[in-house]
Amino acid sequence: MEPLYEGKAKRLWATSDPNVLRMEFKNDATAFNGEKKAQFEDKGRLNNAISTLIYGFLEKEGVPTHFVRQIDDTNVEVRKVDILMVEVIIRNLSAGSFCKRTGLEEGRAFSQPIIEFCIKSDELGDPLVNDDYIRELSLATPEELAFLRESALKVNSILGKFFSECGLKLVDFKLEFGRLATDPKTIVLADEISPDGCRLWDLKTGEKMDKDRFRRDLGGVMEAYAEVLERVKVATAG
Ligand code: 5GP
Repeated sequence: MEPLYEGKAKRLWATSDPNVLRMEFKNDATAFNGEKKAQFEDKGRLNNAISTLIYGFLEKEGVPTHFVRQIDDTNVEVRKVDILMVEVIIRNLSAGSFCKRTGLEEGRAFSQPIIEFCIKSDELGDPLVNDDYIRELSLATPEELAFLRESALKVNSILGKFFSECGLKLVDFKLEFGRLATDPKTIVLADEISPDGCRLWDLKTGEKMDKDRFRRDLGGVMEAYAEVLERVKVATAG
């Protein structure tokens, strides 16, 4: 059987229900738009476990998502969506491409969260775009864009508090959204939420607990992900 879609870190498979897909987390890690590649044993399991707990928490907090249920260590069932070709990035502190673009040092807290939109395209390197580009490229309607902005801020507020209970600072993260196959007017949160797509710094030590450990060759990548999972488990159990 062939996957319906294979991305850098996940595969999507059909199920017996045409409106439900199986999302498989792979052990592959990539950075710098696929230029840097590695495999980490257990990465799929760790990201699935973290993402499943966070999705469960977000659903409980009233955020509509694609999540249906966890199947096993590396697979979940998700509602079929038509993914919006625009990625939403939310930043609370300066880091990554923000610093590269502006020259500001890493770790400056913003007075308010910054929201960025990027075209979801490996070929183009996920370029930063604004509302006008999104409208003219028909990536989302102005109403959908307003919804994405509002949802991103809501998720940021929920996850910021959640991760701070985990002793982690939510520095920045990427969200993806999709239109439900069963009801395209409804947009839900899709993709995964894991240290692959979030910058998380330990509140006490400032240590990086996310994919920057891989991007910057800091070592201890899976150890950091496992530590994030342990803290997320404690926070969601309480
Ligand atoms: P930056 O623009 O600084 O590289 O990334 C900002 C945040 O969004 C980081 O937490 C980063 O992990 C996440 N992010 C940006 N683009 C992608 C992407 O294509 N895939 C994933 N998994 N995360 C991304």
